[in-house]
Amino acid sequence: MRIPLIDAHCHLEGIPDKELNGLVSHALEAGVNRMITSPTQMKEWARSREISQRYREVEYTLGLHPWFLQEKDRNVKTLLRENYSEDVIGIGEIGLDGGRKKIDIKLQIAVFTEQLEFAIEKNLPVIIHCHRAWSEMIKVLKETGVPRAGGFVHSANTSPEIAESLFTLGLSISAGGNTAFNPGRKLVQSLKAAYPNHLLIETDSPNMNPLKRSEPNRPENISVNLKNIASLLGEPETEVARATTENASKIFRLELG
Ligand SMILES: [Zn+2]
Repeated sequence: MRIPLIDAHCHLEGIPDKELNGLVSHALEAGVNRMITSPTQMKEWARSREISQRYREVEYTLGLHPWFLQEKDRNVKTLLRENYSEDVIGIGEIGLDGGRKKIDIKLQIAVFTEQLEFAIEKNLPVIIHCHRAWSEMIKVLKETGVPRAGGFVHSANTSPEIAESLFTLGLSISAGGNTAFNPGRKLVQSLKAAYPNHLLIETDSPNMNPLKRSEPNRPENISVNLKNIASLLGEPETEVARATTENASKIFRLELG
């Protein structure tokens, strides 16, 4: 029997309606049982919810991605409170990006912290983006805390030492297209540290196509990611599928089937 997969992180908000049916059925054919779509800006929140209501295979989160922040986003906790409903399964995509110099890191930290606090208050798992801001990230997580429900840093390209401190804090990491095209030694070591208890699988669609970077990615390509991850770990695909699905369903409290 094929093990069902959970695409723990993707962005379906920008996919036109006419393409969604095909996208979902191709994902199902590839063994994907659930897709967790995460908006990056507030203007997408209603769309995330709409798609999740239309397809039982799609769940959604709410959040503001660091790349698009503006001063007005400092009141994100109020916005989350106003838009929250029982079907929201997590807070994401949220985080810090030190590579985006135009977006003041202090603003990023303030908005990330508010969103983390909201997640703690509601005990919702977090989906975190972190790039070139690991020391700030660990500092905020230590000071603010982590929801009991946990969460993960998606496409985490970090050292095994930092990965271990994430696990100690109650978080996991997810891997996807970052394992294609000759991943670095550190990433492989982090994956090995995460497996089997702290590893999830994702596509980050429409980003990070593991076959051809310049083309839009789709959740069906999760099978390519599974293959790459299993080969880097030196583990059978079925075992990696089983472990990553179990970890994701635990974090998001999903009943598969
Ligand atoms: Zn993403």
